[in-house]
Amino acid sequence: MSAPNIETIVSLAKRRGFVYPASEIYGGLGSSWDYGPLGVELANNIKKSWWNWVVYERDDIEGLDSSIILNRSVWKYSGHETTFSDPLVDCRECKSRLRQDKLDQDADGKYICSNCGSTNLTDPRPFNLMFRTMIGAVSSDDDPAALAYLRPETAQGIFINFKNVLDTSRRKLPFGIAQIGKAFRNEVTPGNFIFRTREFEQMEIEYFVKPEEAAKAHQEWIDGFDEWLGSLGISAENLKHYEQEKHELAHYSERTVDILYRFFPEREDEAKQWDELMGIANRTDYDLRVHSKKPEDAEQKRINPDSTEDLSYFDTATNERFYPYIIEPSTGVNRTLLAVMMDAYTERTNDKGETRVILKLKPEMAPIKVAVLPLAKNKPEIVEMAKRLKKDLQPSMRAVYDDTGGIGKLYARQDEIGTPFCVTVDHESLEDNAVTVRDRDTWEQERVSVDSLKSYLGERLTI
Ligand code: ATP
Repeated sequence: MSAPNIETIVSLAKRRGFVYPASEIYGGLGSSWDYGPLGVELANNIKKSWWNWVVYERDDIEGLDSSIILNRSVWKYSGHETTFSDPLVDCRECKSRLRQDKLDQDADGKYICSNCGSTNLTDPRPFNLMFRTMIGAVSSDDDPAALAYLRPETAQGIFINFKNVLDTSRRKLPFGIAQIGKAFRNEVTPGNFIFRTREFEQMEIEYFVKPEEAAKAHQEWIDGFDEWLGSLGISAENLKHYEQEKHELAHYSERTVDILYRFFPEREDEAKQWDELMGIANRTDYDLRVHSKKPEDAEQKRINPDSTEDLSYFDTATNERFYPYIIEPSTGVNRTLLAVMMDAYTERTNDKGETRVILKLKPEMAPIKVAVLPLAKNKPEIVEMAKRLKKDLQPSMRAVYDDTGGIGKLYARQDEIGTPFCVTVDHESLEDNAVTVRDRDTWEQERVSVDSLKSYLGERLTI
């Protein structure tokens, strides 16, 4: 089972402290969200899993953390200033502002307003998605010399550091650079909870290869990401590939495959249940070429007169110099978090006929690995033993102590936030130095001696 719709996750997320509406006490700020105590843990677990898999478990990727605000020339030569836009249309009937490329068309090819159904829409005009800001204390609002942008993707910070990383790490092709960080897009129609927001986080790899090896490397990354998403607990039946058609490809891309997740299972039309979780593009040699000082156009004019560097690569084996191709797997932290929560969502009925929510997260993803609960919080010896156990477990796994309710309520709370195990300290524990360990998924309980508790949990959590 997975969540029947995003709304179910919105309410669970707010109720239990995963995600809150941002700026709520001032009426909120459209499509902005804050990550609460459990949300920040889950997001960190996703980022840790990605970084481990990409940077630590492979031998050909280096990490990077580049600036959010870059020299404006980066966005000029990357093409973002002129082409990073969505086609904006206004509905003349209901005054909605919409993204034309996301609208349905009628039999005559006319676009239909997703809000009121009218086809009385304006012609599309390009709306640049980059957030503008000004640099420096003395700049006036319209000073072009002070204009800067918040990055709309982390990728460009990687391209412009290609030579730095190549030289300092003494890498040879193929190798990649990985980065996790915030990106900002002034989206025309943000929405669907954390699926589309104006501020979000990306995990991007730019993998540099010889041109003739690009197609193979591209396919390997696509297959690799199917596996990684599976390792987060996302089931294969809720994932599928979408091969972008020629006319949909970005100007720099030779081939792009999107991995889609079933974010909208409630929609009747199966085709509309899916949307993009991540994209994997073969960007050719476009990026390193446009940021280099040497390449010239047909009239022998430098295409980039502002760059001070040539980002070509010299292959010592063949004595050839060329611009590497780039394979880019680009994943959103927030969309991944939403998919992980939706896929883990399960309901179960207890003996009293009550419906309980269980978030069947993989232990690696669970914000809390074990909750230590005292059966009687008015008995100081039990409380003391439970608190001590929490302290002992904490260095090896994220553990919490909780005595804020009856045991049934405490179990239900931990099930709902995905904690794999609850450890209960009772009166007998004081005598036999053993505790009850309850499994989130089966609700089965087992008596385990305190001496072996850490290794028992470690084994079952596989940490
Ligand atoms: P879309 O077509 O949904 O606007 P995109 O194709 O423009 O997405 P990319 O530029 O390929 O997205 O960005 C890579 C990834 O970054 C996306 O697959 C998604 O996971 C994430 N992402 C992009 N835009 C947003 C956003 N506004 N909010 C949340 N995540 C985003």
